[in-house]
Amino acid sequence: MVCELCGSGKNVTGFEVEGEIVNLCEECKSQIESGDLDENHFQCLNESMWSDKKGVKILTYRLLKKLGRTDLLDMMYLSDEELALAQKEEEEKLDSVGNRLRDGDSVMVIKDLNVKGGGVIKRGTVFKNIRLGDTPGHILAKNIYIKTEFVKKV
Ligand SMILES: [Zn+2]
Repeated sequence: MVCELCGSGKNVTGFEVEGEIVNLCEECKSQIESGDLDENHFQCLNESMWSDKKGVKILTYRLLKKLGRTDLLDMMYLSDEELALAQKEEEEKLDSVGNRLRDGDSVMVIKDLNVKGGGVIKRGTVFKNIRLGDTPGHILAKNIYIKTEFVKKV
């Protein structure tokens, strides 16, 4: 199994994009999840943009957009449905009281949260420098996904 973005065979696992599973290598996946994209690594989007698989196209579109590669976006072909899905991700993420969240914000957790794999994040915990990440309805705080409804911007 190889990564459908860069072709690497290193620790390839499935990643869900709009109901489709896209195979991603460790490197692509960690950059996508952290939101910290290395432009050099993602030169591979030059090729994945021509994929005929919906999930790959949507993911490629979102990454190119983040990287500001309008030159490539202009050349991409997506159906109306694919384009709508690809752009859906840009919807605003709002905290518990409706503030718009952005990368780099600080948030406070408003209730005790159980963490997958054990442990609790106590109400009142503040996370600095959050990332919006690619998971709808969640933000990334120190590599933990937290529902936006459980945080408040501080
Ligand atoms: Zn890859």
